[in-house]
Amino acid sequence: MLDCAIIGGGPAGLTAGLYATRGGLENVTLFEMGMPGGQITKSSEIENYPGFFDSTKTGLDFMDEWQNQCFHFGLKHVMKKVEQIVKTGEHFTLILEDGESVEALTVIVGTGSVPKRANFKGEDEFYGKGVSTCATCDGFFYKNKPVTVLGGGDTALEEALFLSNICSDVYVVHRRESFKVAPPTLERVRKKENIHLLMDSIIEEAYGGMMGLDGVNIKNTKTNEITKMDNTGLFVFVGLNVRNEVLKDEQGKFICAMNESGQVIVDLRMRTNIKGLFVAGDLRIDAPKQVVSAAGDGSIAALQVLTYLQELE
Ligand code: FAD
Ligand code: NAP
Repeated sequence: MLDCAIIGGGPAGLTAGLYATRGGLENVTLFEMGMPGGQITKSSEIENYPGFFDSTKTGLDFMDEWQNQCFHFGLKHVMKKVEQIVKTGEHFTLILEDGESVEALTVIVGTGSVPKRANFKGEDEFYGKGVSTCATCDGFFYKNKPVTVLGGGDTALEEALFLSNICSDVYVVHRRESFKVAPPTLERVRKKENIHLLMDSIIEEAYGGMMGLDGVNIKNTKTNEITKMDNTGLFVFVGLNVRNEVLKDEQGKFICAMNESGQVIVDLRMRTNIKGLFVAGDLRIDAPKQVVSAAGDGSIAALQVLTYLQELE
């Protein structure tokens, strides 16, 4: 029986693991279906995590050091997906992807979020074949070539900046006339001569053939003018969907209280309405969707686990 099972190895889960093991728990396992690190490993930069201010380092570099620290105090890693959490009396049973089951007295869920699809014609057909949601992974394929970026939030503009150092031109397509972005980022974007902002515009269609994406048609929604952009890669950054599947039972019903957007309702101690079940990071209600806040949540959840287990004794 584990003292604590942590599901998800992003900033929330890793920090929870650090605090739980350093707080004295010996039997703590992190279930992360891939390599630990979470979404930020897909980012080309991070400049708003206090104490880390190095623009030459990527999100992957940043999380590398985290892992060394978080596993240092005895946290174990099982590289498997957790399919389901079942409350079995006073404890929990985790069903893993291979059918194995693991028992735990407490569970912290930090399964975070994933990029949304924008739903334009051709998006699914060319996903992974010219349509991407990761500039650090795929930007280099477009060295000295033009690329198109869809979206008007922090992610879209930060990744446009990253792409502007590799690609010949970056066309940012945004459906409104203003951005939802931190002012310093917008300022940097405006100073880049090879970033072109196409406001009030949408991707009408991504087109191509057997070999993948050839180009996109961009429509200005005010003038209805269509711009055909040939030979371009397309990077889609239109927000995130929370990953809450693990909290569904066999009938597809959530095992704890959620809001209408599928985020988990927690209190200020990251407690759900189920005793012993905690949720941290992007998956919780009102999450600021930041590394620093996900890490903060992880620490709070782990400290609550320590208190909860003491009370059980
Ligand atoms: P995540 O980072 O999403 O980690 C969740 C983990 O859970 C993943 O590794 C996933 O594989 C795993 N998982 C999911 N389901 C299961 C399951 N069933 N079983 C096992 N494992 C599972 N924030 C900032 O503060 N500054 C930035 O500059 C910044 N830039 C960003 C750039 C990009 C491109 C993106 C996408 C996000 C950025 N963010 C930034 C946001 C930040 O990355 C997130 O807020 C943060 O990573 C959330 O942490 P988390 O631990 O809640 O979840
Ligand atoms: P976001 O803030 O939700 O922005 C999504 C953008 O995509 C918006 O501009 C939105 O348009 C647009 N959009 C949504 N659906 C669309 C569609 N179907 N077609 C075309 N455009 C569409 O998402 P994000 O930029 O990924 O950021 C997610 C969270 O992570 C935010 O809380 C953000 O602050 C945080 N984050 C922070 C940093 C940082 O702190 N440096 C970096 C990255 C991300 P509208 O504007 O019209 O809604």
